[in-house]
Amino acid sequence: MKRGNSFTRREGVIFDIGGEGRKGYALPDLDVPPCDWYREGAEPFRDDIDGFPRVSEAEVVRHFTRLSKMNYGIDDGLYPLGSCSMKYNPKINEELARDERFCGVHPLQPESTVQGCLQLQWELEEFLKEITGLAGFTLQPAAGAQGELTGLLIIRALQRQRGDNRPVVLIPDSAHGTNPASVRLSGYRAEEIPSDAKGCIDLERLRRRMDRDVAALMLTNPNTLGIFEEQIEAICQVVHEKGGLVYCDGANLNALVGVARPGDMGIDLLHVNLHKTFSTPHGGGGPGAGPLGVVEELLPFLPFPRVIRDGERYLWEENRPNAVGRVHGFFGNFGILLRAYAYILSNGPAGLRAVAEGAVLNANYLRALLEKDFHIPYEARSLHEVVFSDQKQESAGVRTIDIAKRLMDHGFHPPTIYFPLIVRGAMMVEPTETETIQELDAFAAALQLIAAEVRESPELVRTAPHTTPVGRLDEVAAARHPIFRWRGPE
Ligand SMILES: *Cc1c(COP(=O)(O)O)cnc(C)c1O
Repeated sequence: MKRGNSFTRREGVIFDIGGEGRKGYALPDLDVPPCDWYREGAEPFRDDIDGFPRVSEAEVVRHFTRLSKMNYGIDDGLYPLGSCSMKYNPKINEELARDERFCGVHPLQPESTVQGCLQLQWELEEFLKEITGLAGFTLQPAAGAQGELTGLLIIRALQRQRGDNRPVVLIPDSAHGTNPASVRLSGYRAEEIPSDAKGCIDLERLRRRMDRDVAALMLTNPNTLGIFEEQIEAICQVVHEKGGLVYCDGANLNALVGVARPGDMGIDLLHVNLHKTFSTPHGGGGPGAGPLGVVEELLPFLPFPRVIRDGERYLWEENRPNAVGRVHGFFGNFGILLRAYAYILSNGPAGLRAVAEGAVLNANYLRALLEKDFHIPYEARSLHEVVFSDQKQESAGVRTIDIAKRLMDHGFHPPTIYFPLIVRGAMMVEPTETETIQELDAFAAALQLIAAEVRESPELVRTAPHTTPVGRLDEVAAARHPIFRWRGPE
């Protein structure tokens, strides 16, 4: 199979096409009296935009169809964006989420008329408790980052109740950027804990630093290098001994689901990115769902309302005096909760375990295929993702960004690059469990080919991409001086 981009012509913007007098409809002359707002000869065009495009229906449909074919999504092929778990999302989940009996429901309907929706949320919480080993969840947070913020608000609520005001949250230097952002947003000060030579939290440094000014340690397990924190129990013990809490960023649950439970490792709070591990299409930034789970002691602080069960009836438990408030206008992104629920039920316990096993196997298969051509900064075995660097390509003057751009010429979406920050020139590959061995082989072959190109004709890689609608973009200028308005042809 030849891989590559399907477009054959360069597509401009819609202002480039069309012509005077063209429009998207053809109707006979009016044979009834015109109504009030109809002006003779008036055309339904906006006059606040200069040169508003005048296009026929065929032109507009073809333009947007061609644009849509320039996109690359998980339905095109492997999407190896590390830390994002861009797995294939079963279409049955989409059909269920679109079912009129769910999407026709209004969040202000009386409880008695939405018993099925409440039951679904109650059971989803039960599933998440079972999967993570925690005592209870709020389904409200609309993203992982909001789960983090909710967790930090809960930590502060607990410590306020204890009369124990602690200003600091410790974060390993490999953490995702949302971690320090959430810490800052919740009024804490983020302080970095370095990783050791194995890519894990430096336990000795943590032991020396941990004190009564530290509210919590916020870690990710497996961490963003794809490495399991083997000393997780000792880490939790060090933090707990000084009265701190352990928050786990659960974005990497795809590596553990059905195999190990963060709650059993000593973790106090954890968010789960349903849109990653439990299958919701999430390119382009959402919507998502980041339910937050906590241990028994923290249950009273979970946001209100929560769904409770009273015999055969499900209802909202509104009276939660210690709750940190609401974190969502209604009850969370219900459509995402529904997809996760369907995904969990359709996989069952054995299926979920196979998810983690497949994800780990696939990442390690790619690692084995590519470790000769690309430098691997840490020796520890990978879980669901593997981080390479551009160290072997550096002497040819080729950097990570060039390799990522060249991958597009070979028909693949690039991996996550320059993250985690502690790896210079990082390329973070997460194939997920939904890829076949043929797809993994094709991806590895593309990267091996690029490694060969770097040795033989580095200029080709340095100037990539060559087959995409636009070539190398000035990403710094695009970020610093964004242009949001069409200014006419150059
Ligand atoms: C994706 C991710 C987050 C943030 O989750 P969102 O749902 O995008 O807000 C946090 N930490 C890690 C490790 C992630 O991969």
